[in-house]
Amino acid sequence: MITRDDCASMDAADPLAHLRDAFDLPSDTIYLDGNSLGALPRVTPARLAKVIEAEWGQELIRSWNSNQWIDYPTRIGERIARLVGAAPGQVISTDSVSNNLFKLLAAGLALRPDRTTILSVTDNFPTDLYIAQGLQRLLGTERCNVRAVAAEDLQTALLDDVAIVMLTEVNFRTGERFDMKAWTDRAHASGALILWDLSHSAGAMPISLDACDVDMAVGCGYKFLNGGPGAPAFLYAAKRLHDDLHQPLSGWLGHARPFDFTADYEPAPGILRFASGTPSILAMAALDCGLEVFEGLNLGSLRHKSLAQGDLLIELIESREALTTLKLASPREHVKRGSQVCFRHEGAYAMCQALIADGVIGDFREPDILRFGLAPLYLRHVDIFDAVEKLEAIAATGRWREPVYNERGKVT
Ligand SMILES: *Cc1c(COP(=O)(O)O)cnc(C)c1O
Repeated sequence: MITRDDCASMDAADPLAHLRDAFDLPSDTIYLDGNSLGALPRVTPARLAKVIEAEWGQELIRSWNSNQWIDYPTRIGERIARLVGAAPGQVISTDSVSNNLFKLLAAGLALRPDRTTILSVTDNFPTDLYIAQGLQRLLGTERCNVRAVAAEDLQTALLDDVAIVMLTEVNFRTGERFDMKAWTDRAHASGALILWDLSHSAGAMPISLDACDVDMAVGCGYKFLNGGPGAPAFLYAAKRLHDDLHQPLSGWLGHARPFDFTADYEPAPGILRFASGTPSILAMAALDCGLEVFEGLNLGSLRHKSLAQGDLLIELIESREALTTLKLASPREHVKRGSQVCFRHEGAYAMCQALIADGVIGDFREPDILRFGLAPLYLRHVDIFDAVEKLEAIAATGRWREPVYNERGKVT
């Protein structure tokens, strides 16, 4: 039986424990939702105040040059590049994941003119499928068809009409992780391009886009990267494809010479061609603060801690009598698991609400998933212990059945 003291010892031995101090976390809350909205880095408020008061307030428009505002998307892109295994010049921070998916899917489809299908899985994050469906509507089914299948049918659905395989590395519901190298190789062997969504993996584990020979990728700034609500997303395109990829949101900041103000679009030579309009500088500055925490950090150690914490959570929940009705929905096997652990339970929504009322923030995902995100930068082992104690009490007393925990808000 693992005790709270055991967990405290794990924290004392944790080489990453000091990183928690880089975050401003409420003292009365256990935060198990860093995979949905990352925590606030301590440096962010002062940095934003400086950008607002000094750079915007005093320096005004000059800041585009004097404070390098114009370079934020590529500078932040390079910081993210290290986290996703990309050599320089291939990552840009811009727009939302949804927008970036649209740009890359459209550009990628044109590289396979004799093929029309975007292949994905039905339990991909909905926006990924919705964007592909929007592209199908826009281009017509002669040019674009979305085929979404169950993960176990992916290989058989990978036929010679597939132009792009679009997968999310870590499933948002179950935390199940695809093998990036294996699926990239399979897509290539069939003649298709691959597009990975790293929203639930970037900042939680090592990723090797270049080494896996990935073509395109997108990812999220506000989850494990701690860039703040609605933070800019990022986009990766392999250098070997840059000259051939033409994205349709061809705005002026993706132009080769935006300040020539010429009438005709000419794409910038490198990754900058994936920019569209003016970046939100306040949001970029906040994302930059989130990325600062990763400087010098070994992502292997981060992954090691995240998996150990996942194992701890599973072991604690499965050892409690009152929690035997919770069924593990995430893979036990390390290589197949992301940085979250989920359980199924008919009362998942209400249990989650009761937990939140007790200061433990996890989240619920349809239809019956209780999801615990493990953000190893700031999560302690004792937090996991305390969260399970509270969950056990909620289950043992049946308190989650009270009507107050069964009312639904607009955001779940
Ligand atoms: C969070 C997430 C998104 C978010 O998309 P936005 O357009 O930035 O809101 C997209 N895809 C996946 C897989 C996600 O987890």
